[in-house]
Amino acid sequence: MNKSWAIVNKLLPFSCVDGPGNRFVIFLQGCNFKCLNCHNPYTISLCTECGNCVKSCPHKALSFINYKVIWQTSVCQQCDTCINTCVHHSTPMTYKYSVDDLLITIRKYLPFLNGITLSGGEATMQLPFVEKLFSTIKQTNDLKHLTCFIDSNGYLAKTGWQKVENIMDGAMIDLKAWDNDVHKSLTGRDNLRVKETIKYLAKINKLYEVRFLIIPEHTDLQDNAENIAKFLIDLNPNIRIRINAFHNHGVRGIAKKWSSANKKQIEIFAEQLKQNGLKHFTLPTVYL
Ligand code: SF4
Ligand code: SF4
Repeated sequence: MNKSWAIVNKLLPFSCVDGPGNRFVIFLQGCNFKCLNCHNPYTISLCTECGNCVKSCPHKALSFINYKVIWQTSVCQQCDTCINTCVHHSTPMTYKYSVDDLLITIRKYLPFLNGITLSGGEATMQLPFVEKLFSTIKQTNDLKHLTCFIDSNGYLAKTGWQKVENIMDGAMIDLKAWDNDVHKSLTGRDNLRVKETIKYLAKINKLYEVRFLIIPEHTDLQDNAENIAKFLIDLNPNIRIRINAFHNHGVRGIAKKWSSANKKQIEIFAEQLKQNGLKHFTLPTVYL
């Protein structure tokens, strides 16, 4: 089933960190993980239309009509009061985009783009839309040169990846912890399907990059560099690795008290992976 519209949190016309080249990134609303360290917790849930945030808006950009929250973009001052009020990890500030409307926007930037990336939230939560968008791009003469990538937490089952593998050029997958229990405590979900995704996408040559986020004293990646390297080298010794450093700016709840990762901690992890045979690394350029 193809779906021709999606709930979109944000569009980013240019990005050079979400796949190869210059990319138009579409952040879809909704995620199946609840990461304690999420930097965009308002992207986790779809709005329930409870209306509780409406009165919080100091600029009267929100109204509640026929049990629906209406957001007036022209009045909104982007103060974020509404998302800080919402206890459902959501936001009233989303857009409903059809494939056709999205393609009109993408065409405005076309001369500067190498491809598009669907991110989130978790992009694969709206898989029928992903199928429709990617297949339309691949069948449209002035767009088919654009590569189509997904940035994902890897929780999609193999049968889901099989629906998009022929219209997707590659995926970036996060491995948030090595041990299943650590992964569950950080994200609320197990990592068995994430590891299966990494294995499957590597096998069909669609795994563009594996991503790690180092959170001092909370991720176990640092203690499992040898296991991680062996797992990945068996799949593809040339796999790209991106290592990100946790920073506690913008997170909510318990993770606010967690220490940020520093340059030395990131470099030690990269060196451990390197000594165990991995070769291609992207490290942070800025530490907060
Ligand atoms: S960000 Fe939310 S609270 Fe602030 S002006 Fe916009 S709609 Fe209102
Ligand atoms: S954004 Fe949150 S508080 Fe506002 S209507 Fe939606 S679910 Fe309710």
